[in-house]
Amino acid sequence: MKWESVIGLETHVELSTRTKIFCGCSTEFGGEPNSRCCPVCTGQPGSLPFLNRTAVEYAALAGLALGCEIHPRSIMARKHYVYPDLPKAYQTSQFDKPLCTGGGVTLSNGRRINLTRIHIEEDAGKLVHTGSEVMIDYNRGGVPLIEIVTEPDFRSAGEAVEYMERLQTTLRAIGVSDCRMQEGSMRCDVNVSLRAPGDAALGVRSEVKNLNSFTSVAAAIEYEYGRQAELLEAGAPVVQDTRAYDADSGVTVSMRDKENADDYRYFPEPDIVPVELTRGDIDRLRGSLPELPESKLRRYTEALGVTEADARLLTKYRPVAEYFERVAESSGNARMAASFIVTQMFAHISTEAERETWSPRADAEALGELLGLAQSGKISHNIAKRVYAQMAESGGRAQDYLSAADMEGVGGEELGRLCRQAIEENPKPAADFLAGREKALQSLVGAVMRLTRGRADAKAAEAELRRILSDA
Ligand code: ADP
Ligand code: MG
Ligand code: ZN
Repeated sequence: MKWESVIGLETHVELSTRTKIFCGCSTEFGGEPNSRCCPVCTGQPGSLPFLNRTAVEYAALAGLALGCEIHPRSIMARKHYVYPDLPKAYQTSQFDKPLCTGGGVTLSNGRRINLTRIHIEEDAGKLVHTGSEVMIDYNRGGVPLIEIVTEPDFRSAGEAVEYMERLQTTLRAIGVSDCRMQEGSMRCDVNVSLRAPGDAALGVRSEVKNLNSFTSVAAAIEYEYGRQAELLEAGAPVVQDTRAYDADSGVTVSMRDKENADDYRYFPEPDIVPVELTRGDIDRLRGSLPELPESKLRRYTEALGVTEADARLLTKYRPVAEYFERVAESSGNARMAASFIVTQMFAHISTEAERETWSPRADAEALGELLGLAQSGKISHNIAKRVYAQMAESGGRAQDYLSAADMEGVGGEELGRLCRQAIEENPKPAADFLAGREKALQSLVGAVMRLTRGRADAKAAEAELRRILSDA
């Protein structure tokens, strides 16, 4: 690769407070357009904002979870721009005295992404385009946001996406945002520049605004890499500009260049007193943080022996992690509990929304008990799966669905006889296996399972089949 990409992200996250940042209007997503508004959040003359304390605490919690320094005194500021989504013609934000500075995230490849700052601001309304008309819905205006700004520390699209996923997992775990990119409660701007490897100076960047999915974040970065590399290789300069990404065509388009950049004329907001948190407030907030997903991940892999892949999935969704911990505890085998939950339960739930609000029908203690039986060899893994399906359907405990035969298992001579029968009835896979096709053995294992109605242990059947075939 000829050029090194240098990327910095600005991520906007809506805080899940019940009410807006400066008034009592509801923050709930959707609703009849302009039904969740009042004179304050639509910027009527003479209305006075009142800062929502919970929004400040949520922002501080986000900062604490990301290792930032929380400043006991920060200042709201007016950021001026004229656009119909913002009736006041300024956004109330923070400028030179933000709530949080520093902090960061360490990626799985060991690279550290430093945060510049996290500040508090209000969201704007939404333009709705219908044919030739544009309509404005101010329900979103005044919803509290935090903006999380990184240093230009990313070197690839993959790193940027991993960071976004980590923010999402962390902020959901501490309960300050649902971070739903498809609903716009998490969105990001990517800044991209290229430079020759080894160069210390940064190249000229472009900024792609308002990306609303992980796929678009990656695609916009890749597109910018190609576009800028082409310019540089032709000896043409990259012009600093602000761009929009069109997900349908996969292309970024320039909206304005540096000369036409906005001048926000920031000044301190006179209607809102400085945001103050005492050391005591900050300590109390720090103490109220739950165990963070990264620390859960380490505990699951290091202390409980769960594979890294399983641990990543389990820690991504809070209800799943909680369920797993109870199953692990009552089964006495965390690794098995993890893999059972991931493959048997989780594999069938594909939408993010369902995963976030996961509540399995099978009782965690009952599942733990069932896995305990499988672990000690009292029942086969296949029977455990069948019983789990029954528990998930109708509740109850393992005992309710286990017959005496289930508990006996199939072993010794009976297993040998059934394996021989399976080979006789399925000459083709047997021959394939002998010809070196390892995979063919699985269809024989399947045949043994059918003959025993799942009572045999798959590993034992496989070993027995292997022994018989290699003796033949
Ligand atoms: P602005 O407020 O005008 O968007 P900032 O200087 O605050 O500009 O930077 C915004 C984001 O752009 C930050 O995430 C920063 O890390 C990133 N950034 C700044 N310069 C570069 C560059 N040359 N290449 C890539 N990213 C950059
Ligand atoms: Mg910016
Ligand atoms: Zn309002």
